[in-house]
Amino acid sequence: MNRIQRRCKINIVRDALKHNHDLREVYNENVGGVGVWSASWNIALSRDCGRRRMRDCGRRLYIFLSKFLRERLPGDGEASVEDFDGEDDDDDEDALDNFEDNTSDGGSDGYSITSAASSLTGRPATAQSAGRVGTKKDRSAALDRGTIRPMTASADVQIKPAFRFSLFNKIPPTLNFVSEGEKAEQLPWELRKLLKWKMSPITPIVVKVALARVGFRVTKRNHDWLGCFGKHMKAQCFKSMREYQMLNHFPGSFQIGRKDRLWRNLSRLQLQFGKAEFNFFPQTYVLPCDLKQLKRAWDEGNTKQKWIIKPPASARGIGIRVISKWTQIPRRRPVIVQKYLHRPYLINDSKFDMRIYVYVTSYDPLRIYVYDDGLARFASCKYSSSMKSLGNKFMHLTNYSVNKKNTEYTSNTDNTVCMGHKWSLKSLWNYLKRQGINTTLIWDNIRDLIIKTIISGDSAINSMTKSNCRSRYCCHELFGFDVLLDENLKPWILEVNISPSLHSNSPLDINIKGGLIKDMFNLAGMRIPDERDVSNNPPSGDFSAHRPVNKYCMDKRLFTNQLSPDERAKHAYFCQKHQDELAVHEVLRKPRLMLGFDPFPVQEHIQIMQSILDTLTPDDLRFLCESIDEDSRKGNFQRLFPTPHTHRYLRFFQAPRYYNLLLDQWVLRYNRMEQRGIMLLQSFCDEGVHLENPSTNPRHQWTPPNSSVTAFRSPDVRVLGSLTSLNSARGSGPTAPVRGPTKKAVGSGVKGSGSSSSLIQSSSSNSLTSLISSPQLHTPSPIGPISSPSSTPRETMTTRTQRSSYRPAPSTRRRHNATASLDRYKSDRGEQRRLASRRETFL
Ligand code: ADP
Repeated sequence: MNRIQRRCKINIVRDALKHNHDLREVYNENVGGVGVWSASWNIALSRDCGRRRMRDCGRRLYIFLSKFLRERLPGDGEASVEDFDGEDDDDDEDALDNFEDNTSDGGSDGYSITSAASSLTGRPATAQSAGRVGTKKDRSAALDRGTIRPMTASADVQIKPAFRFSLFNKIPPTLNFVSEGEKAEQLPWELRKLLKWKMSPITPIVVKVALARVGFRVTKRNHDWLGCFGKHMKAQCFKSMREYQMLNHFPGSFQIGRKDRLWRNLSRLQLQFGKAEFNFFPQTYVLPCDLKQLKRAWDEGNTKQKWIIKPPASARGIGIRVISKWTQIPRRRPVIVQKYLHRPYLINDSKFDMRIYVYVTSYDPLRIYVYDDGLARFASCKYSSSMKSLGNKFMHLTNYSVNKKNTEYTSNTDNTVCMGHKWSLKSLWNYLKRQGINTTLIWDNIRDLIIKTIISGDSAINSMTKSNCRSRYCCHELFGFDVLLDENLKPWILEVNISPSLHSNSPLDINIKGGLIKDMFNLAGMRIPDERDVSNNPPSGDFSAHRPVNKYCMDKRLFTNQLSPDERAKHAYFCQKHQDELAVHEVLRKPRLMLGFDPFPVQEHIQIMQSILDTLTPDDLRFLCESIDEDSRKGNFQRLFPTPHTHRYLRFFQAPRYYNLLLDQWVLRYNRMEQRGIMLLQSFCDEGVHLENPSTNPRHQWTPPNSSVTAFRSPDVRVLGSLTSLNSARGSGPTAPVRGPTKKAVGSGVKGSGSSSSLIQSSSSNSLTSLISSPQLHTPSPIGPISSPSSTPRETMTTRTQRSSYRPAPSTRRRHNATASLDRYKSDRGEQRRLASRRETFL
């Protein structure tokens, strides 16, 4: 919408207001459908008509504007890392003036929020919502004007609870975000006044609507906001965030959000783990650095090979071209050059790509969710592989921002039908199923691709988050994955958007993105802060000393980073053991190293890793409860990581992280018996163990396993010892790329520069021995089965019986677990069977 158009419409509105036209009638006659609110309209009008006047006219103005705003097409632009400013077709700076800070009256600014909300749904603001949040004067004035329907007209708005309660005792609830047609019940003013949001110029309407339903108001102050949904910030800016504030980005997420970084990270993993695991992204070169390699690949390739050039950090198809001549490659500006996937899967002869919404609630431990719906976006011109058509963007690019400019573009307002150039992902799956295609397999491959892509940026993002954020509570991020299917239905990742478009101008968009945002905020688990923290400047950094004022406010003890010495020792021990496990698996993956291999170490490593759950420290409990609670709020999201099937992904992490190992073992052990796991944690939380730091209860203090030095080293010694002898006999060493300290160890052991036992000494014992020599660790605490506290008075007879009935004798259970896990490993790898048969042949 250009300046002249805007000016013209403002004049129309002014004129209509001046002559007091019946705008409602105009609306009903001319629009009658979905109206859309716009940022630019709101801002321009508040400036031109005066805020007071605009407020007076409030709803009439909205209705009138809806007619004009319908002319705006739905947008699909993305925020890129560098390139978001400027006039976008999805003018997303709306309603800023509507979200004013007004602390004197809890409800006085709610009116404008509901106007934004109703503008999205296309329904006029209901009298109930207006009445609920507007001032008395506003309400009666509005009713006098007859522009607001009476209270009874809003009977269709359902009131839902304001909170979602934790499954565990002594864990405060999170705010409950509700769907369209619902509203969260109003909190008492003491709590409600703390619901403040920081607006950003790119906060989408769906987000504002979700916030309005919960009762958030806008603040311009820096310290009192609880959430912000906007642009990515520089990593250092995260330092100024307080522990109760939540931003929709992680520091460093451009590691996957920028095209050049994404390819660098994925290529690194491809080099390390091979194409069998990492072959879901087109070959890419980052110029000018990779010019020589590109030239080589270009010369070696087919003359008909097509390439696509893209700016490294742009979006919405800007600056993208499909090329076939070397001379077309820009030399001066940085670009990425990528192999063009010239045989895409076509529907109705048109190319399409998928927008998949991926949500990361935490990087340590890594927790990834995927939304069960998304978008399929079609090119608006039928596909041809002819060289002559390379310049046709409507054929080769699937971006909405590009294709809407084609007169042939047809929009689709229904999320259930396969029509026009935008479908819902669910409609796409239904369509493919009707063609007899196995969509489950495609979805599984997409899930695999997502996990690996997120892991590729994990290390950098994690360290930046650790060094810049005060609390793990502060960050969460919604990513938009663009995935293309080739003619064999293999998914390829094209890019990851760190600010996926959430513009919702049609019922299709509203349906998908509205639900997505609601579920996303529920998963995020927003909490009401302690008022003392908001007013204190700056609040105390010691979370363990915190005592919440009431049971609804955030308990900072749950987010403390402080570990007791035994917890630190436990972390170090299991991370090291995981490294050792990876070393063993590396051996298993290399058939030639398998000769004479004894499977015993595998079993033993499995047992060792399982023992991570034997003594649950307070810190363990906090993370386990958080993860389980979060999972219970996931709505239409599916958890991708960790699940009982994601153990194999642990090896792709640059370094093992304790919480990933803990959750991995938890989901493996309590797979299909989640209730038992929950009951166990509930019993600990009833005692308040999860709030202790450190625990005074010896049952929750970790001590290293008895005779750990020999018992736990033996498998490594056996494997590596046999390898050493085997390889010295053959005169060659294994080249297994094992990471971290173990890598060094394996290398040195095999090459004969040190014995295998010295290798184990160096890898396992040193760091651990120093850590565990802390006096706190000498409390005798037998390592054994999960230590459950004695039954509490609240515990029912049934609960006690259930618990005792599912806990076999420790030795039996260990045996059972080891066998079960071994089975899992076996079924996981058909490869192992092949290896076993080789071994037999050898013997
Ligand atoms: P942007 O961030 O500008 O949207 P993308 O990488 O998503 O950039 O590319 C835009 C469009 O170009 C994609 O939606 C897809 O249709 C097409 N495209 C991008 N890369 C390739 C590729 N390697 N092969 C085929 N088509 C591609």
